[in-house]
Amino acid sequence: MNAPLPLPHKAYQARSISLASRYGGRTVLAIGAHPDDLELAIGGTLARLAHESVRVVMAIVSIPADYASRRAEAERAAAILGCELRLLVDNACARIDDMKNYQLVGLLDRAVRDLEPAAVFTHSACEFHRDHVAVHNACLSTQRLKNFDFFHFNPTMTRAVPVAFHPRAYVDVTETIELKMQAIEAHASQFGARGLDTELFRDVARLNGRMAGVKYAEGLDVGRMLIA
Ligand SMILES: [Zn+2]
Repeated sequence: MNAPLPLPHKAYQARSISLASRYGGRTVLAIGAHPDDLELAIGGTLARLAHESVRVVMAIVSIPADYASRRAEAERAAAILGCELRLLVDNACARIDDMKNYQLVGLLDRAVRDLEPAAVFTHSACEFHRDHVAVHNACLSTQRLKNFDFFHFNPTMTRAVPVAFHPRAYVDVTETIELKMQAIEAHASQFGARGLDTELFRDVARLNGRMAGVKYAEGLDVGRMLIA
């Protein structure tokens, strides 16, 4: 009697790489230009890591305006995801556009030296927001300091704008999609107060999930990754 053929998705999932086995007990550093960027792009991934015994540090480069309220929103969102929050420019508003390249690279270098991450997640080069591209470029420089896995995430925006981005890896966030949505909604000044619909981000996760054969996923591009 012939054995049944395996279902394509079952076989695929059986060979997927577990985040827990790769980064468990280690530190993952996620770097976003502003409060809310990390939640929009990889909130589900960060929650999964945090719930799988990974130390996850959400580093925000700067808060451009409304420091106290936006900091409080970022703290609430990080708590929902189970992550540590770190503001690289602390105690005052600052605009990335006003920083010299060496200052921005210096901020990120300090975070990488201090945390010694096993993986770094940040913006891709495909972003339309110039601050996001500046952070991507500065992160590229930090690769000289240490070997770490380096991932670039889906472009982030509060309203849908067509930007070319092609994920090459997908993280299954089916179990953490609701935490992601709660963390996004914690940024009330960016969404609720402006009447913006956060369901856009669930839609993106659903579409990425279809690409990978799961209900919800977040897409990543791979900048550097060691397969040992
Ligand atoms: Zn941003």
